[in-house]
Amino acid sequence: MKKNSNASKIYEILDEFLPVDIQFLEQKDPFRFLISVILSAQTTDKIVNAVVRQLFAVYPDVKSLAQANLEDVQEIIYPTGYYRNKAKNIIACAQALGDSEVPDTMEALIKLPGVGRKTASCVLGDIYRKPAIIVDTHFARVVKRLGLVATTDPGKIEKEIASLLEPSQHYRFSMTANLFGRTVCHAKKPSCDDCPLSGLCPSRDAFLKK
Ligand code: SF4
Repeated sequence: MKKNSNASKIYEILDEFLPVDIQFLEQKDPFRFLISVILSAQTTDKIVNAVVRQLFAVYPDVKSLAQANLEDVQEIIYPTGYYRNKAKNIIACAQALGDSEVPDTMEALIKLPGVGRKTASCVLGDIYRKPAIIVDTHFARVVKRLGLVATTDPGKIEKEIASLLEPSQHYRFSMTANLFGRTVCHAKKPSCDDCPLSGLCPSRDAFLKK
């Protein structure tokens, strides 16, 4: 199937420009990765990576976290913010998983406490290497500036970007566009002068005039 040619060019340029292996969260085990992603809402990956090292030192697996004391978990994950809700969710998530593996479908993942489409997409892409468009603030900003979408609604962005690229490109593009947003196409002052996509970007002139 022929996909959107501008999106394909952007994909190719970012694929070349950025490292082959992009990883924001340290944990590799599926359960630990899932918990890390739940904790990553509204905070930085650096904080999450530090907090989960402590969390998994005390609760190393699904069973121990499922039986954890709420206040003790709250205390450990406090630096990630929204710690009351997050503690409740990660304990409930561990309880819901029980002896099961972390699911490998969107439908099953979003039934778990604290797991929305973004978290599920992270797991599908990172752990199971399945097609996944991960819409976070960096990704949404980059694809909108590049004119690939006109909306700011995460659900619509996910669908629209998925329709522009081959499924095999979805996860890689999620990671490259995200890293590109963190390192080049910054929220406040994008580095348009040094941007490898400047020839394809409809927002470039507006930023250069500022
Ligand atoms: S030209 Fe500027 S606004 Fe456009 S993608 Fe590059 S850094 Fe972002």
